[in-house]
Amino acid sequence: MFEKQIKIPDPEEVVAALPMPENLKKIKAERDRLVTDVITGKTTDKLIVIVGPCSAHEQAPVLDYVERLGKLNEKVKDKLVLVPRIYTNKPRTKGVGYKGMFSQPDPNKKEDILKGIYAIRELNIKAIGASGLAAADEMLYPANIHYVEDLLSYIAVGARSSENQLHRLVSSGIDVPVGVKNPTSGSILVLLNSIYAAQSGQVFKLNGWQVKTDGNPLAHAILRGASDGYGNDIPNFHYETVMQVAEGYEKSGLKHPAIIIDANHSNSGKKYKQQIRICEEVMQNRLYDRDFKKIVKGFMIESFIEEGNQSEDIVYGKSITDPCLGWKDTERLLMDIAEKV
Ligand code: PEP
Ligand code: MN
Repeated sequence: MFEKQIKIPDPEEVVAALPMPENLKKIKAERDRLVTDVITGKTTDKLIVIVGPCSAHEQAPVLDYVERLGKLNEKVKDKLVLVPRIYTNKPRTKGVGYKGMFSQPDPNKKEDILKGIYAIRELNIKAIGASGLAAADEMLYPANIHYVEDLLSYIAVGARSSENQLHRLVSSGIDVPVGVKNPTSGSILVLLNSIYAAQSGQVFKLNGWQVKTDGNPLAHAILRGASDGYGNDIPNFHYETVMQVAEGYEKSGLKHPAIIIDANHSNSGKKYKQQIRICEEVMQNRLYDRDFKKIVKGFMIESFIEEGNQSEDIVYGKSITDPCLGWKDTERLLMDIAEKV
């Protein structure tokens, strides 16, 4: 049984009611270009870093955080393309409770999706204004992506979604880079199949229409580690695994081979401080092998103002989902990565 609660307007209506301000459109276009050029290999002397909290649960600390990133960007922009992680649909791992700002604009109150849609547009618009950077979000619900797609420079497909047909199909019509995570099983074959589907033109039904896409040549891999099914994490950022993925890429004939290393999740076992070591190890491996250096195009790092996480929203700027690096460590790590690029 589905009780119809509130009629939600179409994306076109919402975008028209809260459009991206004209002065931000130029910034957004330039950020898209910077990220895209790293993925395609046009830019070879910069790395993409998608960095921010696991979930963006409240506007004020997220804006505070992205403002800091904007300032840091001035110091690292010759070497890094920073993309704030503004994840607005993040559910908890077991799929119940908090489902992100999209569903719950106030994490302590009940679902209010209509308000949530406007809240995430407002947050993204203010974030671009505050930082000069356009964000990344995860496409949890493919049918909802058009409520924010025009504001994002990067879209991720999560580990639990990369095997899903609709995620693959919708990715094929997105105009910015889509990072597809390896599934929790760690299967690289499944990952490459997902990227293949996302890079291919498709015809399918979406939101009341038969739609046609041209394929997204910017779809690429994010390695986030795997789980063995007994709760043990199996990292996949090491040299040997990355080179295996690179080989798989070569055999599959996909466009623009690219890997982003997700330093948290099953790579760190959510021991968030390990993200520092993981990034440093990857930077070291880049020095060692040209093919490794060529295919690893950046990092995803979970970071917020305060380190760690909390089960309820009490401490300002602290994650309510996965544990994050704190700001000081983040700043140091990004400066360090920039120096080694
Ligand atoms: C995340 O990026 O916060 C996340 C939960 O990712 P994954 O899909 O890799 O588990
Ligand atoms: Mn997370």
